[in-house]
Parts: sequence; structure tokens; C-alpha cells
Amino acid sequence: MLVDSHCHLDFPEFQGREDELVAAMQANQVGWALVAGVTLERFPGVLALAERFPRLYAAVGVHPDTQDGQEADEETLLRLADHPKVVAIGETGLDYYRLEGDLEWQRERFRTHIRAARKCRKPLIIHTREAAADTLCILEEEGAGEVGGVFHCFTENRSVAEAALALGFHISFSGIVTFKNALQIKEVATLVPLDRLLVETDAPYLAPVPYRGKLNHPALVRHVAEEVAKLRGIGVEELADATTSNFFRLFGVDKNA
Ligand SMILES: [Zn+2]
Ligand SMILES: [Zn+2]
Repeated sequence: MLVDSHCHLDFPEFQGREDELVAAMQANQVGWALVAGVTLERFPGVLALAERFPRLYAAVGVHPDTQDGQEADEETLLRLADHPKVVAIGETGLDYYRLEGDLEWQRERFRTHIRAARKCRKPLIIHTREAAADTLCILEEEGAGEVGGVFHCFTENRSVAEAALALGFHISFSGIVTFKNALQIKEVATLVPLDRLLVETDAPYLAPVPYRGKLNHPALVRHVAEEVAKLRGIGVEELADATTSNFFRLFGVDKNA
């Protein structure tokens, strides 16, 4: 059984298709999925999925690309995270690719999320794009290693992976690892210790080969797992066992509950 450690099943693309897509997960031996928050306005929809489907979990956070909308102060994050199905704070982090100008507000927001995570003792889901040095620096300054978490949809190089691992974080690969030209990411996927590895879809984006360009959904995480297993020269069953137990250990949930 696999876990999709990061998806956005609450997005409008999936509206009305939730039952069908959760059934497709089961049919493809994808037992569980984590739905990551991107705005506070959308969080009720994320939580509703986790409350409705026993095998979906939620994370609360405001994405670094969210410019408008309600800001997440520490108190709000703590209040929303105080729920048995909310297993992480995120997604949060820095994105210097999409937005320009003075992004100090992103760094402040990131620090707030880390402080909240440390207070509620839940791990962080980190989004970083063209901002690896600042991301690592802030994680270190704010003592994020105390709760750990995951660098999701990893697209950085080997030295960023090593620094993230040294801080105690896990690394999650998305469908990008199946893309032919993603050589650097394929290399990193062979280097992450098996007990720090996760797989994800980041659906609705980044559908893996052979579905590239189509609408992604959690069941397709199987193709990500198959590629990572192939790159590492192990069977997909071994990779599934490792990544699934990593997920349940990291997020502190009992899969039989
Ligand atoms: Zn992200
Ligand atoms: Zn995401």
C-alpha cells in the first residue's frame, strides 16, 4: 500500500469527483493521502475531506504564492491544527520563482508557520522554489529540526537534499521524477536514505509519465513510486513499505485507527 503524501483534492478541478478518486486510490493500492492547505479560506474544504474520508489527512497552512486573502497568525494556525485529522503545518516555505519584489512577507509568514509547528508539535510541509538557501537558513534559525517535516515536490540539487536531511527533514518526490529530462532529480532520488523518502502527486499538477499533461490525482502516485524504485534498483513493494511507514512515523498517525 502506498501513500500520496501531498495532494490538493480540495481544488475545484476535483469537485464532485471525490468519491470516484478515493475509489481509484483503493483500486491502485494507494491507501492514504494527505491534502495540503494553501489558503485559510480554502481550509474548511480540506478539513471536510479529511473528516469525510477516513484515509485522507489534512495539513493547515498558507502557501507562499498566496498574496491575497487572510494571513495566518500563530494563534489561528494553532486553533485550526488542533484536530485529530490535521497532521501537519503547511504547505509553507518560500517561492522566489513566481513572485518578485520584496518578499520579506513570505519569510515572516514562513517563520510564523514554523513557530506554530513547534508549539503544536506537528511536522512541517515545506514548499521551496528558487529559494533553497533562505529556506534552509530560516528552518535552522527557527529550530524547525525539533519537529521536522518534509521538503515536498523536491526539485533541488544534491547539496540542498543533504542539508535538508541534516536538519532532520524527509524528502518527497512528485511526478517530476518520471520526466525524461529531470536528471538531477533522478540522481537525488537514488541518494535519499530509504527511511527519509516519501512520494506524492501534488495533484492536480505534475501528472507522472505516461499521464504527463493530464489531470493528476492521488492514484497516480503509483507511477512515481515505480520510477523511484526502478532508479534505486529495488522492487516497488519495498519502496511502498518504506515510504508508507515513513509517512505514518513522520505524521504520528496510527494507520489502523
Ligand atoms: Zn508546493
Ligand atoms: Zn502542493
